[in-house]
Amino acid sequence: MTSVREQIDFDVVFVGGGPACLAGAIRLMQLAGERGLTPEVALVEKGAEIGAHALSGAVLNPIALQELIPDYIAQGCPIEATVRGDEFYFLTRDKAYRLPLVPRYMHNTGFQIVSLARLTRWLGKIAEELGVNIFPGFSGSQVLYADDGRRVTGVRTGDQGLDKNGTPKGNFEPGIDLHARVTVFGEGARGSLMKSVADRLGLAAGKMPQVYETGIKEVIQLPEGHYFTTSEGNDIHTFGYPLGMKTPGGGFIYEMQDNRVAIGFLVGLGYENPFLDPYAEFIKFKRHPLVAAIIRDGKVIEQGARSVSTGGYYTMPRLAADGALFVGGAAAIQNTPGLKGIHVSMKSGMLAAEAALAAVASGDPSAQTLALYPRRLEESWLKAEIYEGRNFAQALAKKMPAKLIHLGAQYVTGGRGLIDPLQHREDCRTLKPAGKGQTLKPQADAKPLYDGVLYVDKLTGVYLSKTLHREDEPCHLIVHDTRLCVTTCYETYASPCTRFCPAQVYEMETDEKTGRRLLKLNPSNCLHCKTCDIKDPYRNITWTCPEGGEGPSYSTV
Ligand code: SF4
Repeated sequence: MTSVREQIDFDVVFVGGGPACLAGAIRLMQLAGERGLTPEVALVEKGAEIGAHALSGAVLNPIALQELIPDYIAQGCPIEATVRGDEFYFLTRDKAYRLPLVPRYMHNTGFQIVSLARLTRWLGKIAEELGVNIFPGFSGSQVLYADDGRRVTGVRTGDQGLDKNGTPKGNFEPGIDLHARVTVFGEGARGSLMKSVADRLGLAAGKMPQVYETGIKEVIQLPEGHYFTTSEGNDIHTFGYPLGMKTPGGGFIYEMQDNRVAIGFLVGLGYENPFLDPYAEFIKFKRHPLVAAIIRDGKVIEQGARSVSTGGYYTMPRLAADGALFVGGAAAIQNTPGLKGIHVSMKSGMLAAEAALAAVASGDPSAQTLALYPRRLEESWLKAEIYEGRNFAQALAKKMPAKLIHLGAQYVTGGRGLIDPLQHREDCRTLKPAGKGQTLKPQADAKPLYDGVLYVDKLTGVYLSKTLHREDEPCHLIVHDTRLCVTTCYETYASPCTRFCPAQVYEMETDEKTGRRLLKLNPSNCLHCKTCDIKDPYRNITWTCPEGGEGPSYSTV
């Protein structure tokens, strides 16, 4: 048993193996090479390998990739398909109306469809070849600070080999302290380290509350001669049914190679109905006649879920602090109207790399030096792109007809709209009490139909995500007050966690002997989507990182 905590010093540590950090690490090494510098750079990823936790809508605007690796096609970038046409539909319960015009943000023709899991694996190899030390299977457990408690000096990775009570077992390995002059946080939406460092340093002070959506996504294997072999477009987006016009969200279907499609459904977490189950909405979307015809005779081969930060420019935290930079979805960098995050995340990482290298070269990792990153962001195409969507998610959250009025006004004014900035309530504050109000009855068609092949239930979905957690480890989901769950939350909101979790982690049971209600947790099912940390109306759930290497193991989504 090892009990001494190891320390390793780096110049720059990237936290997260998504496109933002990978592009940042590659850019850093490229720039360093041009200047004859040899910085020590590390990248830690909590998944068992790079790409294992990479799940995203995957139409890629290649603008950032072209800047980073101009010959990316020749270098073997894994491309599933090129978008040859966009189709945008409004769905009613049994009809689909194709819109004659696709909003300009969603013109994807010529862009690439990618599997984010495969793309990040490829980027990871390039980063490694450039000399980045990649540590997969290491979760970040805490942020390290200098004695002043303000300057970030690195991250501590999680301990391995604790039992359920947190007691070291025979194979115990303490986490490692990775010290860095600059730490770049890019864990994606609602990252646990980002959350803690933002709280401590007040990074969100004066910013608007973040807005989130949860997406459920699958890869479906189709037979030969499927819809996309003859269709005009291979990039399909929908809105309307099953959510209707009140709750933000919609579906997408993208062609992949080898007769596969990526299909997904996003639900805005500012929804009001506590009976809403995003997973059930996804199944209803799949059973819509338009969608069912596209995926007919298919078989789900992989599934996953993830939240996305869609709040936009006004919700971005301060991007630089002493010793730290914040990139990608962790910093709410997202093209929300265009439903794309990969290229903007990559660009943010690349700009952060310039600042990180300047700090390393000068020996001054202060916030002042690192402010080069937000300055460069303001001057780049990235600012122009995300600024146009600055009020978009907030408009989507409004009720009809205000929603359409705001969206229309934003469309013709480059995002300014009628009110700028447009206010929004935090997603954890929008639920209405169950049983009150005309619109809050459980939906009549709430029971989805599963066949175990093309329409799979939550637990089968967990199986198809290849999610694994050690059973005998401390629970990584902290429910601060379980009494509140079985009394106040159950009585007021009918336990929404039992529905909003796409992995059936939360179950409300009644003890047969005592008749008392109990909250049962199945943390080993967890897909790391963070929905519970965001949507719980009492902020009673905190998601923390389990042991490194655990969670989903995506390979194609
Ligand atoms: Fe997502 Fe939370 Fe459920 Fe895990 S427990 S799958 S993070 S909602």
